[in-house]
Amino acid sequence: MLDFNANVLLIYTGGTIGMIEDPDSGILKPFDFNHLKAYVPELSRLKFNIDSIAFEHPVDSSDIGPDDWKKLVQIIEEHYEKYDGFVILHGTDTMSYSASVLSFMLENLTKPVILTGSQLPIGKMRTDGRENLITALEIAVDKDSDGNAIVPEVCIFFQNLLMRGNRTTKVNADNFSAFNSFNYPILAEAGTHIKYEHYLIHRPIKNAVPQFHYDLDPNVTILKIFPGISDNCIKAIFTNPHLKGVIVETFGAGNSPAHPSFLSVIEEAIKKGIVIVNVTQCASGAVEQGRYQGGKALKNIGVLSGYDITTEAAVTKLMFLFGHGFTPEKVKEQMQLSIAGEMTKS
Ligand code: ASP
Repeated sequence: MLDFNANVLLIYTGGTIGMIEDPDSGILKPFDFNHLKAYVPELSRLKFNIDSIAFEHPVDSSDIGPDDWKKLVQIIEEHYEKYDGFVILHGTDTMSYSASVLSFMLENLTKPVILTGSQLPIGKMRTDGRENLITALEIAVDKDSDGNAIVPEVCIFFQNLLMRGNRTTKVNADNFSAFNSFNYPILAEAGTHIKYEHYLIHRPIKNAVPQFHYDLDPNVTILKIFPGISDNCIKAIFTNPHLKGVIVETFGAGNSPAHPSFLSVIEEAIKKGIVIVNVTQCASGAVEQGRYQGGKALKNIGVLSGYDITTEAAVTKLMFLFGHGFTPEKVKEQMQLSIAGEMTKS
């Protein structure tokens, strides 16, 4: 049900969607966001109010990071009461990381926060941005018959699909259908109507007040293993004295080389208090550390299973948990729980 008195706040961070092509050089550069309506005249026909805020210096999403995430949380907190929902325009390259971390930083959301973007700039004839933007705005203000937001969580809307943000991965650099949510079903599909799968959508805890978190600790990293990876390369990562957590991207159901020199580096790191989480390199499916020898060996030395979490959600969750100043033990405990619907424990 569309609420015609609704207010939505559109936040522009950067990315292709807000670019125009320089006629001389052909290079994409950000356009003046105040002129958005000139490129998307349909916006004036939407029957609810849209206000917008643009980052002072819009960024290609390859440059996005903790400071920008904090800025987004701050904008949302400052405007939370006034708006029914929020749409964030963001570059696609790292949108899944931003959606994941925001799902942790915005606790007990009662309003939608929808990230979208496009593969072609909004000024281009065949742009996918117009459709993505208009439907994202509609989702941000959609209410049920009791007047509650239909999707009170952080999502990505892209090419007709609404996905839980912390379950997404960018899967295609060219196609309009750039994102997938392999381990959690689609929350809604936009066709002639927007068809919501209500039972899959996260509901806020009754009477819980939204909490806005700002602290992130970037002293975490990702180690993607491959056949033939040398012990020296692995050791080099663990020489960083500030390192607190590592996502190890393993093969299949969570398997790694089982030879002692590899395992001893990992074991030593765990003994030093570094939290190590096992996430599969496969797009879909889950880690099951007991299934094969390689995975079992990791479990035995204290590596945690990431179950079916994405790398994007796992690494930002570590930043979030260490940002709270939690001890490694507390971080380990929280990494084994789903705190924002980011994983399914088998
Ligand atoms: N490089 C761009 C970005 O992520 C790509 C895009 O927006 O799709 O900011």
